[in-house]
Amino acid sequence: MSQLIDSFNRQHNYLRISVTDRCNLRCVYCQPADGIELRQRSEILTFDEIERVAKLFAEIGVNKIRITGGEPLVRKDLPKLIQRLAIIPGIRILGMTTNGVLLKSFAHQLKQSGLTNLNVSLDSLRSSRFELISGRQYFKDVLDGIYASLDAGFQPLKLNVVVMGGINDDELLDFVEFVRDKPINVRFIEYMPFKFNQWNQAKFVSFQQMVETISGRFEMQRIKSIDENSVAKEYRITGVMGTISFITSMSDHFCGTCNRIRLTADGSIKSCLFHPAEINLRSALRDNTSDEIITGMIHSAIIAKPFGHPAAEELVAIENRSMIQIGG
Ligand code: SAM
Repeated sequence: MSQLIDSFNRQHNYLRISVTDRCNLRCVYCQPADGIELRQRSEILTFDEIERVAKLFAEIGVNKIRITGGEPLVRKDLPKLIQRLAIIPGIRILGMTTNGVLLKSFAHQLKQSGLTNLNVSLDSLRSSRFELISGRQYFKDVLDGIYASLDAGFQPLKLNVVVMGGINDDELLDFVEFVRDKPINVRFIEYMPFKFNQWNQAKFVSFQQMVETISGRFEMQRIKSIDENSVAKEYRITGVMGTISFITSMSDHFCGTCNRIRLTADGSIKSCLFHPAEINLRSALRDNTSDEIITGMIHSAIIAKPFGHPAAEELVAIENRSMIQIGG
């Protein structure tokens, strides 16, 4: 079966699967203030359907899967899905991105189920600010989830921080201090614009600005990421156990080497985070359609993949799903 290569000769080996469009947080940068129209439960792919699609992707070269959402841990019995995906031949890395609210009770079970990599999103180390950004008072739950994950053996654990000017950009140094004695990789993520996600130029903090702030206090040394396909710029900090990285999707994008493809919770294939085009597999999956035809649909999504995304000013206006509906 032919590999997933697009018209720009980029090979795709990384599938991000959203398992729900529901979330227990209301982060200002992720979902529109008015909320989203949730899909009916019947529109969400079942575990059988997700497993079937994942197997088809593995047969055409995908070796890395990341589970995301919405919030993946609000999906009932998620560890059972992890168990099923972990044993698919060819899948070497099975990761998950979570807001960590429910992690304390799930971390060990996820590890036992075969999850290999874990990213926890946490945008502030201050309880009141966490609530301001996420709309919920779960700060302590997330911290407990982080400690439980380290204890379960997810090391290095990755911490995703969306950096927003005037909101949490004064905490860069605090995050470095937080990982002084912890095997955690903090990933400072540039704020990406989506329609209705409150992005504006004043809130955008670039990689350069972040480096300036951190290097003013700490000695930073660029290192090569252990993950060969990593899009992060990673640094070691003298005297600090953890490391820090920057995800520069806006100031220095990595479209040229993009190896990602996404499956939304309702069964659509999205070849580019910022491009509205999608191909829905759900009806085909429920319609006795052959594996061969479904794989053909996946290939056609990849063939239509654009080379890159437009500038930020255009992205704020583009009709597209919001991050919570795509899965990041
Ligand atoms: N609920 C899970 C979580 O919070 O990690 C998984 C889904 S969330 C959409 C996945 C990641 O996307 C999170 O790390 C989140 O911070 C990031 N994200 C969401 N909106 C973003 C934006 N506008 N810019 C940059 N990152 C964003």
